[in-house]
Order: sequence, then structure tokens, then C-alpha cells
Amino acid sequence: MMAVMQAYRFALDPSPAQARDLQRHAGAARYAFNWALAAVKANIGQRVAERSYGVADQDLTPAVGWNLPALRRAWNQAKPAAAPWWPQCSKEAFNTGLDAMARALRNWADSKSGKRQGKRVGFPRFKSKRNTTPSTRFTTGVIRVEADRHHVTLPRLGTIKTHESTRKLARRLEAGTARILSATVRYQAGRWFCSFTVEVTRPQRRPARPYEVIGVDLGVKSLAVLSNGHVIDNPRHLVAGLRRLRRLSRRAARQIGPHDTKANVRRTASKNWADTRRALGRAHARVSNLRRDSLHKLTTTLAATYGTIVIEDLNVAGMAKNRLLARAIHDAGFGEIRRQLDYKTRWHGGTLIVASRWFPSSKTCSDCGATKPKLRLSERVYTCENCGLVLDRDLNAARNLAALAAQHNVAGSGPETSNARRANQKTPSVGQVALKREPGTATADQTGTVHAQARTASHGISQD
Ligand SMILES: [Zn+2]
Repeated sequence: MMAVMQAYRFALDPSPAQARDLQRHAGAARYAFNWALAAVKANIGQRVAERSYGVADQDLTPAVGWNLPALRRAWNQAKPAAAPWWPQCSKEAFNTGLDAMARALRNWADSKSGKRQGKRVGFPRFKSKRNTTPSTRFTTGVIRVEADRHHVTLPRLGTIKTHESTRKLARRLEAGTARILSATVRYQAGRWFCSFTVEVTRPQRRPARPYEVIGVDLGVKSLAVLSNGHVIDNPRHLVAGLRRLRRLSRRAARQIGPHDTKANVRRTASKNWADTRRALGRAHARVSNLRRDSLHKLTTTLAATYGTIVIEDLNVAGMAKNRLLARAIHDAGFGEIRRQLDYKTRWHGGTLIVASRWFPSSKTCSDCGATKPKLRLSERVYTCENCGLVLDRDLNAARNLAALAAQHNVAGSGPETSNARRANQKTPSVGQVALKREPGTATADQTGTVHAQARTASHGISQD
């Protein structure tokens, strides 16, 4: 048995009064966030000013603590004056905002000191009503899924009807294999959702075919292509959703938006544009839900069946800038499929191998190993000039990924193979690090075949 954290999300059907209550709680969270930011900024300003008058360090106004307990203490002192309406809302609502502020401050400080990797984090900014997703997180009090499987109960908000059945979670709770740790209500795409963070105890399983390797290439036209030749098509309603999305974005482009592209200035957007934007938001949410659903079905089957799964690592953050719609959504799928496979292979006791993003899975011939210097995205069929192989582009890529794993297991043997059990364990080889950091060198090193790469240990595999 193993304990894992899992999220269960249900759409809600609140009554008008409950919807107002939900909104009020989310507003309280935002209010507390902005209040804490103002307090921290005023405190910094005060101390700077005092220093400039020559006040000694020990006589300065004490610094406001940036951690959650300190912010909470300050808030509790200030709330009777700052928010006399505070008793209307659960204290969890204010806590949500204060917690978000504490984390924002820590991220900023860590980013500044170099403790935090990645993109630089700016100093927190005030949350406007318009640009915030209304949400509140509950960690204490009565958080319950009702026995009728169509209601949830939250502190202060009471019992709210759910749009869909809660049976999946309810069954686990009744069987005693799940424990609710927190609940978050959030307003997204025109509807309230409640997401439960749950600790679930599940039996350790084994994949049905523990010694089989499968390469997965996420397609643009299809959902995915597997190295065994299996093609998983996009569900039809997803295709329809995409079509609607394209139509709406064309419409929005024709209407008067907030940015005048010709004169390159801001202007007042038309009401029609705002309407289209709202419809576009709903269509986006629908497409991403459908896509996530079909990815869930795919990854569950994969993790339950194959011992080793190989996918490609793509630079999702970098590719999100791509303006082609189908392409952008396809790229968003990469992050999601990887996230899902990561935990599902762990549940099922399988291995996830993520090929380095510089591994030329599309450009390499899966039969003879020759690589092409260039392969346009429009070329849907791979034709090898070396051995004459003619194969669907995505299938060719999927086969290369699968082959990579097989060679990795043989060549790498020993420690790496045993480490490969844990998909979340970072075991980068020297070669892989070099590959990831210097794409130019990596391509120069490659002698044209996958096999040669494996021999030099620069086989472009990362297990993370
Ligand atoms: Zn070939």
C-alpha cells in the first residue's frame, strides 16, 4: 500500500445566495492579500524614511514579519478597523489571501537571493478585481462530501449542490482509503468548482506487461502515436471544440479590441469584443477539459500496461509563445501528459523516461538510424534517403523513443536501470547535462545513429 496525494474536482451548482457567499469569501481573500501588501509596503517605507532621518537601527519601527503567522497576527489586530465586516466570512478566506502573500514575498526574496531557480519573480502586486481568479481555500472546519453524492459541505458556506456526482471520492471516503486535507473553491470559465486535496491509500500495482517498452509521440492531428503503431485519435467533440475556438478567435480579431494594432495604442474595447472574449474563455476551458480528459484515459492505460514509457521533453514554456492554435494546444498537452505519466507510473510501479529535448526523435530514421539535418513540420511522412524507409512521421518518432529506452537499459545496466524505477528521481548523466545545456555541441557530437549516442553515454535520456 502507498499513500498518494490526489485532487478531486467537482463543478458546483450553488444557489444565488450561495454564489454571493462564495464571491464574498473570494473577495475577502483578495482583500486580505491587498491589505497585507499595503502593510508590508508601508512598513518598508516607514523604516526607509526613519533611516534617512538618522534614526538608529534599534529605534526603527519594528519590521513586519513576512511569514504567515506574523501576517496573521498583524491582520487579527488590524481587522476590526480595516474590515469591520470580517465576521461575515470564514477566517479561512482571509487566511487564503495572507498565505498567498507570504508565499509571494518568499518567492520574491528567494528569487532575488538566487535561492529560487527559473524566471525572476517580481515583488507582489495588488490584485485587481478584474484580473484575479476568485478563490478560497479551506483547511479546517467542516469539509465533507455528503452521502447523497450530490452535495459538499464547506465551513460557513454550508451544503452546496454539486453539478456532477461525487461518487468516485465518496466511495473512497466511505471505504476509509481517503482523507480530505483541504478544499478550494474557485470561479473558472463562468462556474464555481470545488477541488479537494485528498490523501489516498492505494495498493502498489504492477503494469500488465512489466518488460515492455512503449514510445509515445504526441501528435498534432491525432492525440498520440505509439511505437507499436497504435494511433489514438482526438475525440470528435474535441475537434469540434477546436473549430469553435478558431472561429471565435477570428471573430475577436475583427472586433474592436483594447489594442489598436495599426496605430499601436490602447483604446476602449467594444462590448461585442468583450462578449466574444467571454465566449472564447468558455471555449478554451471546454477544449482544455476535453483534452485533459482524453489524456487521462490515455495515460491511465499506458501506465497500467507498460513497464517503461518513453516520452519527449519539450520546452513547454518556450513553445507556449507559438501563435498557431493547434500547435499551442498540442504543446500544452506535453506538460500535462508528462505530469500525469509521472505520478501514474509511480502508482503502477512502472518507469517513465523523458528523452532530452535535443534528441532528434523526428529527424532520425527508426530503421537504419540515419538522421536528416532538417525535417519540416509539414512533412507528415518520414522518407529515409539512406535505407528507403517510408513511415508516418509520428510513428517514426515514437519508435525512436522506444528504441532509446531499450538501449538505455542495455547500455546503462546496473545502477541506472534500478534508479529508473523512480520516475521522479533525478539521475542525470554527465552526457545528458551537456546535451541539455549545449544543443550545438550535442548535434556536433552525434555521429548519426542512436546507437553511437548510447555508446558515448550521451544518449539523451533524463529520468525526472
Ligand atoms: Zn533509414
